[in-house]
Amino acid sequence: MIVCAATNNPGKLKELRRILERAGHTVKSLRELGVDLDPEETGTTFAENARIKATAFCRATGLATVADDSGLCVDALDGAPGVYSARYAGVHGDDDANNQKLLAALAGVPAERRGARFVSAVCLVLPDGRQLTVEGECPGAVAFDLRGENGFGYDPLFVPDEVGLPGGGKAPNADRRSYAQLADGEKDAISHRGRAMERLEQELPGFLGQ
Ligand code: IMP
Repeated sequence: MIVCAATNNPGKLKELRRILERAGHTVKSLRELGVDLDPEETGTTFAENARIKATAFCRATGLATVADDSGLCVDALDGAPGVYSARYAGVHGDDDANNQKLLAALAGVPAERRGARFVSAVCLVLPDGRQLTVEGECPGAVAFDLRGENGFGYDPLFVPDEVGLPGGGKAPNADRRSYAQLADGEKDAISHRGRAMERLEQELPGFLGQ
């Protein structure tokens, strides 16, 4: 299927592209399609915001469109930053400021109370209006300092419970590496977005009536 990966976030685009291409789809980015649009994320849930974005970009491109809305839900912060993850520190997409704000919010919180999970809602919208929304989660914890160079957003602070194995499968994250210390495949196999996309692939044939 030719699918528009509807995100203005370069880190997310990279992940959506590699996951969709691995599943055999042809990916078109917003830049490749010449679409410049920034729909307002007015939803209060990940699923609502994913639908808002997928619908807006599907209308603009006329292509099957996949959008992700995602964020980090921290137990000790009653689920914050949640749907506000991208703009936690005030400016949309300021990863450094967001990470510093999160560390400050958790100052003095011991390891056993730093539990968190990443959540991703992925919505596929077809030009005929049909919609499919799925979710994926990745449980883990917030580290005490930034570690690793890969990825984007809160990656250097998030320590997933599991990591993906090179030959397939998953294993406990024994050396407590952050998302930003994982290779692409190690992250995709256990990440919130990877898990949501896996579910999308499972549900796709039924959804398309194949
Ligand atoms: P959205 O574009 O409104 O869905 O914002 C998602 C925000 O959540 C991003 O800007 C990041 O701050 C954070 N986020 C989502 N997925 C990830 C990830 O895989 N790693 C790190 N941060 C992420």
